[in-house]
Amino acid sequence: MSAMSVDLNLPEDRVGPRPRRKSKRVWVGGTAIGDGAPVSVQSMCTTLTHDVDATIRQIERLQEVGCEIARVAVPDKRAGEALKEIVRRSILPVVADIHFDYRLALMALDAKVHKLRLNPGNIHNKDGVREVVKRAKIQGTPIRIGVNHGSIGDRQPGDVRDEPQRMVDLALSEIKILEDLDFDDIVVSVKAFDVPTMVAAYRRLAKAVPYPLHLGVTEAGTLVAGSIRSTAGMSVLLYEGIGDTIRVSLSEDPVMEVTAGFDMLKSLGLRDQGLTLVACPSCGRADIDLIPLAKVAEERLRAMPTPMKVAVMGCEVNGPGEAKDADVGIAGGVGKGAIFRKGKVVGVYPEDQLMDALLAEIDKILVENGKEPYSQKAPKLTHEGQLTPGRSVPAGQRT
Ligand code: SF4
Repeated sequence: MSAMSVDLNLPEDRVGPRPRRKSKRVWVGGTAIGDGAPVSVQSMCTTLTHDVDATIRQIERLQEVGCEIARVAVPDKRAGEALKEIVRRSILPVVADIHFDYRLALMALDAKVHKLRLNPGNIHNKDGVREVVKRAKIQGTPIRIGVNHGSIGDRQPGDVRDEPQRMVDLALSEIKILEDLDFDDIVVSVKAFDVPTMVAAYRRLAKAVPYPLHLGVTEAGTLVAGSIRSTAGMSVLLYEGIGDTIRVSLSEDPVMEVTAGFDMLKSLGLRDQGLTLVACPSCGRADIDLIPLAKVAEERLRAMPTPMKVAVMGCEVNGPGEAKDADVGIAGGVGKGAIFRKGKVVGVYPEDQLMDALLAEIDKILVENGKEPYSQKAPKLTHEGQLTPGRSVPAGQRT
């Protein structure tokens, strides 16, 4: 492989992530991974794969929030048989996740899935492995080798390697099986629940192989704790230029995995996609009940296709100025609120019309930029009534 570029700048001299690590390019259907492609966001269906309708519905929901690759588990023949129809109907490239049984991998290749996730070392039938790899090569189907810390086996007596090294060595031995069969259309992951272990493993792997890396923190947990744990691990690596595709694993609706993934990438300046919501935390100066307003704004603007920074601020005095980076925003007042653009107030509306006024202003900005208006397509509120009336006494007049 080509030599890695050397970056001698100290981190504090530089604004933004390091240049991306150089890697091979792998195509998963129409989604590129590695070699300078935008870091892609993927997720895994929680449906039973043999329930094709439910799986396709979930893939469509994932696509609506920006997901770029969908993985499905293939635990048995019934799931394998469903793959053809899933691939035919799926709006996203489909990855088949397979363990142990090479015949399921062959079924997945018959179904023309866009990528396989399998560890050849786990498949005991070596002729079967050869057959799968030969077919994958002919069809141009990439393979992700996915080493998870939980499944690397117990440490043998006398083994002095640390845990990250045990994962990396296993990944390298899996890679070698594929390379020995003249196969290099490879993506690799070395996930762990423990963040320092995972960070060290990916750093070492990044130096050792030319392949694109799929980042993840395994079994990260529920929405808040899991998103934080995932971000704690992945953002360190992404900021160092390591990582080409990500999955945030959450014990949640997988749609949340995708939104968490994009929020992470947007925070690092690695992707620019749809809504970036700027919301103040609210404080004693707030003249409006900010938290429900921010939630309503997020829900209604989540499907916006054009990148836009939208602010929801709690008071008219400080709000527009504090959010002057935002393209457009709301600042709350008592019973009314201001709409502002780039920190400048452009209109004042009664509180119950604020959200509609914000949508109208967003439409205006989109049209000014030659884009389709959005408000008619905005998702309707699922928690109507959550928006409570503002505080009744202006902050300056409270006794
Ligand atoms: S914008 Fe106003 S309400 Fe929000 S945190 Fe700042 S001062 Fe407080």
